[in-house]
Amino acid sequence: MQFDNSYARLPDRMFARVAPTPVAEPGLIAVNAPLARELGLDPEWLQSPEGLAVLAGNALPEGADPLTQAYAGQQFGNWVPQLGDGRAVLLGELIARDGSHQDWQLKGAGRTPFSRGGDGRAWMGPVIREYLISEAMHALGVPTTRALAAVTTGEPVWREGALPGAILSRIAPSHIRVGTFQYFSAREDLEALRLLTDLACARHYPGVSGAEGLLEAATRAQAELIAQWMGLGFIHGVMNTDNAHVGGITIDYGPCAYMDGYHPDKVFSSIDRNGRYAYSNQPQIAVWNIAQLASALLPLIDPDEAKAVERATAIVHRYADLYQAAWGRRFRAKLGLLTEEEGDIALIHRLLDRMAKLNADFTRTFRGLAEGTARDEFIEREAFDTWEAEWLARLAREGSTVEEARARIATVSPAIIPRNHRIEGAIASAVAGDMAPFHRLETALKTPFAAAPDDPLRHAPVQNEIVRQTFCGT
Ligand code: AMP
Ligand code: MG
Repeated sequence: MQFDNSYARLPDRMFARVAPTPVAEPGLIAVNAPLARELGLDPEWLQSPEGLAVLAGNALPEGADPLTQAYAGQQFGNWVPQLGDGRAVLLGELIARDGSHQDWQLKGAGRTPFSRGGDGRAWMGPVIREYLISEAMHALGVPTTRALAAVTTGEPVWREGALPGAILSRIAPSHIRVGTFQYFSAREDLEALRLLTDLACARHYPGVSGAEGLLEAATRAQAELIAQWMGLGFIHGVMNTDNAHVGGITIDYGPCAYMDGYHPDKVFSSIDRNGRYAYSNQPQIAVWNIAQLASALLPLIDPDEAKAVERATAIVHRYADLYQAAWGRRFRAKLGLLTEEEGDIALIHRLLDRMAKLNADFTRTFRGLAEGTARDEFIEREAFDTWEAEWLARLAREGSTVEEARARIATVSPAIIPRNHRIEGAIASAVAGDMAPFHRLETALKTPFAAAPDDPLRHAPVQNEIVRQTFCGT
């Protein structure tokens, strides 16, 4: 285990040095052995009493230099000048096998100077949820924070009642958010902004430097990321600027969910009453967040504010084309297309419109194109049949056979996603002491494109299993 803690070498005002608060009795939920090995950690050791003590915050590994990061952000559009790591402690940066720096953070590690009214803790529900969804994202090829391990604390956490406490070991190439830049911009701390810019470029965008370079790279990365979410029917749920990662990776899994039945206006989060973060709003929100990053970086772009605004605006305006191109690429691939034709976007929308009208299951419909079963997802079969005729004609025009297209689709449209009702089932079982559903799901999600045709995890929820609302659960 080798640390090199670059964030801890930044000026003191950029973070607060705090160690995790020890817990009563650490217990193992899961250790991610392949990820541990990538990080140069021994998975056996992580499961030993010494390893568990580290995962629970009861002991510090040699080389750790724990701290909590300061950040600000707009929550649902409203400016909050100070947020920060209120329930997470960065143990340090591991040097991974590939030479990269990887933050090892304990989420749920106790109170910090940024906890405000909170207890700094997490309960088992959100820890299991984040573990499953972030690891599924990784297996699906989406840039994301990872889950190295989850442990119970042996202490209750008080929410609506007493719930079992837990801690997630989160791994990320950095935890620098749009809100981290906003925090220092609001304080007119140009030195901190410059240091953060350098760090973010070095961590996420090799070969890129300077505020304009960072803004441009982050704009591109967000466009790609959101197109990937859209292609999987994923709804983040809390796209506040403090939850927007400057490296374009998915971070802060709260009330997020993958859709079952498709509808563009779908919202799951119990706190998102106006649908600000609805499925179809995500592309616009992402560029709004990027515009906030641009604002924060203005003083570094040009000392003349008018010039800085002009240059930053030009970069932010590129997002629309980047996003449209990324979306088109993702959804063309979901139809198995190799070439581009003018009418493709309309063809994709005609399928989505029919899916929305008939509440067809997002994952099963697109996977069904690979398996010849998409038709079964439409309560009015003819709605699919008329669209399918157009699709087959389009494939014929580019000279692709249906078999070829199907084989391609099976590599981009998963059979298995962590469906809401399965996650909730795994959490309920875990709280009752049965970890089997969690492990079953965790294993299946490692190979989301290769599920057996009869795997029950492929099923959409039946009426009484449908989960309509998700909670932050903080
Ligand atoms: P999030 O919902 O993860 O985006 O968190 C928003 C802010 O609230 C961040 O500053 C968190 O650190 C803080 N926060 C969330 N839950 C807790 C908690 N249980 N205790 C202290 N701070 C929290
Ligand atoms: Mg957050």
